[in-house]
Amino acid sequence: MQYKDQIVVVTGAGRGIGQEIARAFAAEGAKVALISRSESSCAGAANEINQTFPGSCSAYAVDVSNHDAVQEVAKRIGEEIGAVSILVNNAGITRDGLLMRMKEDDWDTVLDTNLKGAFNTVKAFMRPMMKGEHSRIINIASVIGLIGNAGQANYSASKAGLIGFTKAVARELAGRAVTCNAIAPGFITTDMTDELPENVKEAVIAKIPLASFGTTEDISKAVLFIASRDARYITGQVLAVDGGMTM
Ligand code: NDP
Repeated sequence: MQYKDQIVVVTGAGRGIGQEIARAFAAEGAKVALISRSESSCAGAANEINQTFPGSCSAYAVDVSNHDAVQEVAKRIGEEIGAVSILVNNAGITRDGLLMRMKEDDWDTVLDTNLKGAFNTVKAFMRPMMKGEHSRIINIASVIGLIGNAGQANYSASKAGLIGFTKAVARELAGRAVTCNAIAPGFITTDMTDELPENVKEAVIAKIPLASFGTTEDISKAVLFIASRDARYITGQVLAVDGGMTM
């Protein structure tokens, strides 16, 4: 129960990695606000976790790319649950395609969600976090933000941008005992990677030293460590959880 009664916000928590991060915090006694784009997704995820950890989770449907809507939801979370001390920016999307064919909207939507979304949430939640004595911002980036990937110029730029944002925020908030770190997952089994054709999955696995996709638990365990008091001296870092892909 190392997070007992701490208030945690996880974006993109309707499924996949975000839902697993929310579950892991709930299992350790936290009160978790799950944010996702659609009401059915975050309410469904919160209900599922509440069956095992009653009263731990609340659902908030909001598009993280909408600055005003994020400000509004932060106010509601503050009133309904309390002062947030841990923020996990996990909401993310892909709109893949080679640059020659990539539409402006594919670029804008991915950057608005993956990068501006984190700007919006940090702005909205930073005040209570700066007043706390143990606050954490954890941004879920990607190995693709470190090494790039053909067909993912928008996604690579958004995740590389998120890493730069992480370091700037870490420097700005260090004086307030708020740490800010990024986790860069490799290929993790979720809806996002289920879309990949089998031959692509096989080619990816051939490049991973540990020879398999990771699980959502591999990421949630890293998040819980970075959020813990044991990680108090770690800030501005990027932790790759990728089976050795980018060593
Ligand atoms: P999923 O596609 O399984 O889930 C994405 C979640 O993000 C959903 O809950 C979705 O909401 C939410 N979301 C998307 N857009 C918005 C938005 N504008 N506002 C609020 N919520 C939004 O993704 P994963 O679990 O696979 O990925 C989670 C994060 O991890 C992403 O940032 C991704 O880039 C990153 N990542 C994933 C990897 C992987 O291999 N899976 C590898 C590296 C990084 P809803 O359910 O309502 O649609």
